[in-house]
Amino acid sequence: MNRVIMAGAATLGLMAAGAAQAQDQTFISIGTGGVTGVYYPAGGAICRLVNRDRAEHGIRCGVESTGGSIFNINAIRDGELEFGIAQSDWQYHAFNGTSRFEDDGAFEDLRAVFALHPEPFTVVARADAGITNFDDLVGKRVNIGNPGSGQRGTMEVVMAEMGWDMDTFSLVTELQAGEQAQALCDNNIDAIVYTVGHPSGAIQEATTACDTVLVNVDNDVIRALVEDRDYYRMATIPGGMYRGTDEDITTFGVGATFVTSAAVPEEVVFEVTRAVFENLDQFRSLHPALEALDAEEMVSDGLSAPIHDGAARFFSEAGLTN
Ligand code: GLU
Repeated sequence: MNRVIMAGAATLGLMAAGAAQAQDQTFISIGTGGVTGVYYPAGGAICRLVNRDRAEHGIRCGVESTGGSIFNINAIRDGELEFGIAQSDWQYHAFNGTSRFEDDGAFEDLRAVFALHPEPFTVVARADAGITNFDDLVGKRVNIGNPGSGQRGTMEVVMAEMGWDMDTFSLVTELQAGEQAQALCDNNIDAIVYTVGHPSGAIQEATTACDTVLVNVDNDVIRALVEDRDYYRMATIPGGMYRGTDEDITTFGVGATFVTSAAVPEEVVFEVTRAVFENLDQFRSLHPALEALDAEEMVSDGLSAPIHDGAARFFSEAGLTN
């Protein structure tokens, strides 16, 4: 009997120590996108900088590969993720309850933390498909992206403006971002549409594994769309960045943004923001699509939801104005 009690006491002692340790730790997850996109490595870079100071702040940051922007915002809303990366257009629509967020209503607790890299709406076509500009997608086999991804949402907006629907194409696929390069090179589709930072692993794969070209997405409809909406802007993908495309590509684009919920504590958001901004040179060096980040732009560009109090406190302490 004694022995049993003693064993029990010892176990309890261990559990108490474990519980105390767990209490000192705050777990946060960042929702990103496909592993060959830019969100996933960007989220990994944020976590790496946060985890480095774990002994001081007790935050343990993990990164999750997800379906993309709209999935991330919905998961933050449901409390399944603390942070996520999302396109500026979907941040806007989620906060305002418009477009794809009309049915669920405005996500009023959505908070912006900071802006990341630009994301041009990128169309890559097989070189043998006879596609030299965006309008040539009519009648072709096109991957419009998985539901939940930002590029799928943005493609649907563009299709509506162009007067296109699913029947405009000879085949529509809904492949995940990470699956589309191979489908293109296997000749299962003629073109992919991916709103992503550059350079990205997925576009590198699509342009090196087989003969492909990036095409311009520039016509009156696109120009009018950009004119009308603050979260869109014209964008250039520099010639020579990818094999097969030596000329600059003109398209439109959005910005990647880092978002959270008002329900996430101020101290947590402050520490995450601090980890990135106090190590910005290192952050920029962790992925080539992050190289051109600028602190002043990061506190203002494409942030339509209110800035989270924790980020705002860091920006004001650091003398950054948004
Ligand atoms: N912009 C894409 C999306 O929102 C993700 C791009 C990436 O993973 O880098 O779904």
